[in-house]
This record gives sequence, C-alpha cells and structure tokens, in this order.
Amino acid sequence: EVLDQGLQKTKSSVFEKIARAVAGKAKVDDEILDNLEEVLITSDVGVETTVEIIKRIEERVARDKYVGASELNRILREEIESLLVETGNDNGEGFVIPADKKPYVIMVVGVNGVGKTTTIGKLAYQFKQEGKRVYLGAADTFRAAAVEQLCIWGERVGVPVVKQQMGSDPASVAFDTLSSAKANDADVVLIDTAGRLHNKVGLMNELTKIKNVMKKVVPDAPNEILLVLDGSTGQNAFEQAKQFIKATDVTSLAITKLDGTAKGGVVLGISHQLKVPVKYIGLGERMQDLQPFNSKSFVESLFE
Ligand code: GDP
Repeated sequence: EVLDQGLQKTKSSVFEKIARAVAGKAKVDDEILDNLEEVLITSDVGVETTVEIIKRIEERVARDKYVGASELNRILREEIESLLVETGNDNGEGFVIPADKKPYVIMVVGVNGVGKTTTIGKLAYQFKQEGKRVYLGAADTFRAAAVEQLCIWGERVGVPVVKQQMGSDPASVAFDTLSSAKANDADVVLIDTAGRLHNKVGLMNELTKIKNVMKKVVPDAPNEILLVLDGSTGQNAFEQAKQFIKATDVTSLAITKLDGTAKGGVVLGISHQLKVPVKYIGLGERMQDLQPFNSKSFVESLFE
C-alpha cells in the first residue's frame, strides 16, 4: 500500500496520457504507437528505453496481426516488467548481508540534497530491525549539516556514528569507521560521502582514495557502492547517474522521493540504460519509507 500510494501521481499521470493516446481507437496502430512513444518520453522514461519498449510492442503487433487498443496496457506492462528483470531488478530483497563477510561495507554516493543521509538512516533502521549490528561513517566532512544529519539519524535509529572534525580527510573517517566496526564485530557499515559533482576529477579521486584506504581494514571493501538519486528530478537524476558511473563503479541504485512526483518512469530508464539494478526506492521521509525494489510489485503498482 505504501508503494501504491507512493506511486499514485506517476500512475495517474501515465494512465491519463495512455487513455488519451488510445481514445476512440479499436486496434493498436502506428498512430497509437506514436502517441505512446510521446507518453513514455514525457513520463521521464528516457528516449533510448522508450524506443526499446515501442520496438518490442511493434514486434508483438506485427506477430499477432491484431492487437486491440484495450490490450495495450497489459502488453506495455509485460514489456516494462521484462525490461526491468533483464537488468537484474528481480529479487526485491534489497541488500542481503552475507554472514561470512563481516563487516559488509556499503559506500553511499550521490549529490547533496538527493536524500543520501535519509537513505542511510532508513537502511540502518532496516538492518537493525533484522538484528544486525550497524556502524555509520560520516565521511562527508565538507558540510557540517551532513555530519549533524547523520548523527541525528544515528540517535534516532540507535546506531553509532563515527565522525571527525569538519574538513578532515574523508578517507581517514572511513578508515576509523571500519576499524571501530571491525573491533566491535559489526555486521554492516554504511559510509556517507560528499557529492560534489562540479569537480569531476576531484570526486573521482576522493572516492578512489576512500575505497583504497578502506581496503587496508577490510580487504574486499566496499562490498557495494550505492548511488542515491532523486527521482523527482527526472532527467536530471539520469545525468547525475551517468556522471557517477563514470567516476566510480556503482553497483546499485536507490531512487528517492518517488512519492509526490509523476516522474516515476525515470526508474525504468535509468536502470535499463545504465545497466545497474535499482535496490531501493524512497517513498517518504519516515524511517519506514524505504522499500526494496521489486520489478513485479513496481509494475503492478503502476498498472493496477
Ligand atoms: P542529502 O543531502 O542527500 O543527504 O539529503 P537528505 O537525506 O538530507 O534529504 C534531503 C531532503 O529530502 C530531506 O528533507 C529528506 O527528508 C527528504 N527526503 C529524502 N528521501 C525522501 C523520500 O523518499 N521522499 C520524500 N518525500 N522526501 C525524502
């Protein structure tokens, strides 16, 4: 229900547009497909992904000869779901922490304001609910507010936050965090990082340095590099994702603020084009408002 409510705006917007695209038509024809293409593009699905979806529907129409306009929703839904599953988005479990990798290190990257700290707090909450011992590292030493926010989340959830003074070396904070986590037998570590995209080389160097230093404590750290994106910014999130993927080896995505936006289609495009699975979606500001991403339920919420 959280998912259904959260995606309400995207759903009603996309549905209205599709209804308009097929209005007065009995069968799926070129005109409907042209309209559908426009619907998907204006729903932030992105051009490349839209073209792929339309191509697949065209192939079905060509194969089945006659496809009723009323069937378009179902077909679209099936094609979207298979597209998501092909990118590895099928399990819906979020991060599964292996018992033999202690501590499991998740480095969290993303531009300021996208909901990075909130997502870390929500993840800490979920891991703690699962009975895991969690450590947070405040390696965004650039903004005082970032450290404060992380500490507030740490208190709220009841997990320790490792920090140093403002302006200290982020890699050193990460090192300290992993050392404490290891000494205290922690299961999971979440490292917050600064996201200053205006300096691409700087970002790349900083993230690389943090990674290398962490390896001195935990050889296979980071186990995940989670990129947080603000879904409500639509194509902007897309561009950010491209930049971060160039800067570091992102392994998974969290797309936030899908509540209250009609741009939920961006989830499809980003995941399909960048070939990185979406692990979580953010559907509100509360601790509980982070859901493991599941292709089937996502598509169901959009179409039912
Ligand atoms: P950061 O700068 O990337 O660390 O961003 P924050 O975690 O501080 O979040 C920025 C704002 O977005 C805060 O007001 C959060 O409450 C809000 N926010 C984060 N995730 C979500 C979400 O999924 N839905 C909504 N509606 N707001 C969110």
